[in-house]
Amino acid sequence: MIISRCRTCIALAFAVATGTLGLRAQSPIRLEVDATQAPQQIIHTHMSMPVSPGPLTLCYPKWIPGEHAPDGPIINLTGLQFSGNGKVIPWRRDLLDMFTFHLEIPKGVSVLDVKFDYVEPEATSGFTAGASATDKLVVISWNQDLLYPAGHPAQDLIVSASLKLPEGWKFGTALPVARQEGNRVEFKPASLNRLVDSPVSAGQYYRVVDVTPSGEPIHHEIDLAADSEGALDMNAELQRDYTNLVAETGKLFGARHYRGYHFLLTLSDHVAHFGLEHHESDDSRVDEFSLVDSGQRLNMVTLLPHEFVHSWNGKFRRPRDLSAAYYEEPMKTDMLWVYEGLTEYLGDLLTARSGLWTRDEYRQNLALVAARYGPGRPGRTWRPLLDTAADAQVLYEGPAEWENWRRGVDFYDESVLLWLEVNSIISRETHGKKSLDDFCRLFYGGPNDGPELKPYTFQDLVDALGKIAPYDWAGFFHERLNSTSPDAPLGGVEGSGWKVTYTSIEPSLLQNSEAVHNAIDETYSIGLLLKDDGSVEDSVVTKPAYQAGISAGMKVIAVNGRQFTPQVLRLALRAGTTSKEPLRLLVLNDEYYKTCTIDYHGGESYPHLVRETSRPDLLDNLLKPLAAH
Ligand SMILES: [Zn+2]
Repeated sequence: MIISRCRTCIALAFAVATGTLGLRAQSPIRLEVDATQAPQQIIHTHMSMPVSPGPLTLCYPKWIPGEHAPDGPIINLTGLQFSGNGKVIPWRRDLLDMFTFHLEIPKGVSVLDVKFDYVEPEATSGFTAGASATDKLVVISWNQDLLYPAGHPAQDLIVSASLKLPEGWKFGTALPVARQEGNRVEFKPASLNRLVDSPVSAGQYYRVVDVTPSGEPIHHEIDLAADSEGALDMNAELQRDYTNLVAETGKLFGARHYRGYHFLLTLSDHVAHFGLEHHESDDSRVDEFSLVDSGQRLNMVTLLPHEFVHSWNGKFRRPRDLSAAYYEEPMKTDMLWVYEGLTEYLGDLLTARSGLWTRDEYRQNLALVAARYGPGRPGRTWRPLLDTAADAQVLYEGPAEWENWRRGVDFYDESVLLWLEVNSIISRETHGKKSLDDFCRLFYGGPNDGPELKPYTFQDLVDALGKIAPYDWAGFFHERLNSTSPDAPLGGVEGSGWKVTYTSIEPSLLQNSEAVHNAIDETYSIGLLLKDDGSVEDSVVTKPAYQAGISAGMKVIAVNGRQFTPQVLRLALRAGTTSKEPLRLLVLNDEYYKTCTIDYHGGESYPHLVRETSRPDLLDNLLKPLAAH
C-alpha cells in the first residue's frame, strides 16, 4: 500500500520535473563537499545545478543500493537553502514523500545554488547512515551530501564533484581524480550512480596496501583508515592472503568488470560496523584493532571476501527488481537469497581458498550454520526462507531478541546451505565433471567493459544453471525457498560427504566469537544465548530454558545458588550430566526475581562436521585454491 502511494507520487513529480531541466540537462551538476569539519561531525555541501524557470522537484537519495532499504539518512540533512542569482528561493517538502522537495525557479535564473549540511550521527548502529566520522577519519558516502533533480535516471546525470579534507589527511576511492591542490581534491565528472557507488575514505592515519597478484593487469589495493597509527599494522601474511583472495576471484569468475579495485577498510570503534559493496570498491568498517589482534582478525576475516564477491554478484549481475534507475524507486528484495546468499557461500569458499581461514575453520563455520538453521531456528516452521528476503528492509532492523522465532536476515547464511546443495547436485548430475564454479564462470564472465550492470531474472538464473547441469532447478529452488520444515536443509553437507553431530567440545571459532562479543552460546543445550553478564539475548522457544520460563530481556543472576558467570553456568551443565538434580537459574525479570527449574541433563552441546566416509569428500576439493599461491 505504501509502495504504490510512493510510486504514484514519484510518477507525478517526474512528469512535472522532466520539462524543467529542459535544454540545460546536459550540463554537469557541480558538487562541492567540504569535510574540513569532519572531526566536529558536520559536512558542508554546495551544489550548482543548471535549471530553467518553472517548477522543479529535487530528491534526497532514499533507497540506498546494497542496503536494500529506504534508509537514506534524511534526518541528518540540515541548514537547507536554495538560491538563484543571489536571491533565496523558497522550498516546500512533499507531503507524501519526505525525501522530495518542490521549488519554483524564478524567471532569469539558469543556475540553482543548493547549500546544506550533513550532520554525523553518534549512533554506531545501522549502515552508512550510522556514525561515519571520528576525530581522525571520515567516510564520505556521496548520497548523503547531494540532492538530484527528479525524472532522470542516475546514470544520465553527470556530476562534477570536489572534496575538501582536513589538512594533511590522506584519502582513497575508486572515483578517478582529475587534480589535487592542497587539501582539495577534484574528481573527474562521473554519472550520479557511479559517484554514489564510489565512496571516499580519508584520515590522518592512512595506509595503502597493494594486493595485486603478480601478472594481474588490474590494480587492487586496500586503503586503510584508522583511529591510530598502530592499528594500520597489517602484517605480511595477511597482505599475502588478501593478494591470494584477488588471485582466487580471477580463477573463480574468469573475468573482472572494473577498472581497478579499492578495499576501503576503516578501523575504528566509533563508527558503524558493516560492509557495503560497490562495483569498484567496498566500504567495510570494523573494530580499530581488527588487523593486529588475532581474535578480532578471525572475527572479521570473511568480510572483505564477501564484499569483493559483490563486484560480480550484486553489481555486475543484479536481480532486475534491485536494479532501480533512481534512488526514489522502491526495490523488491525477494532475490536476495542469490544477491546476498550466493555471495555468502562464495565469500566463505574464497576465505578458505585464499588462506584467510583454515579448512577446519571453514568446516567449523559450516557446522555452526547448519545448527543455527536447524535446532537453532524454530522460526523456520512458520516463515520460509523466501519471506526473510522479501521482508529484508524490516529484518535488517530486527533486534537479537526473539530472532530464533521471528527469524532475521537468514537469506545470508541459510543460503550457504542452499548453494552448497546446488553444488553437490551439479557434481552428482555431471558425475563429478562440473561444480558451481563452472556456473560462476558462465554467469559472471564476459569481457571487461568497466563497471557495467547486467540485470537478471529468476528464469535467467535457472537457465544458466541448466546449461551447467540439466535439472529441475526451478522446482528445487521453489521447494527450498518455501519450506517450513524445522530441519536444516542439509542435502549439500551430506552430499559433500559430511554430517552434523553434537558434542560437548566447543569449536574454537565459537570460542573466539564469544570472546569478541562478550557472549556465551548455549543454544544447543538449554537454548540460551547470553551476554557474559547473564543478560538473555535470545531463548530458543523449543528448548528447556524457554519452557522453564526464561525469555530474552531477562537476566540470569545465579546458577544453582552461585552468582552467574559463563564458567559457573558451564560447570553446572557438566555436573548435571551425572546428577539427578535439576538446573536452577535465579532470573531477574524487570524488578522481580524468580527461580526457573530446568530438568536438563544433556551437558554442553556444540555442532561439528564429521566425515561420512561412504561418500566422496567434495568439500576437500571445493576448498582447494584454484590459483598458484
Ligand atoms: Zn552482502
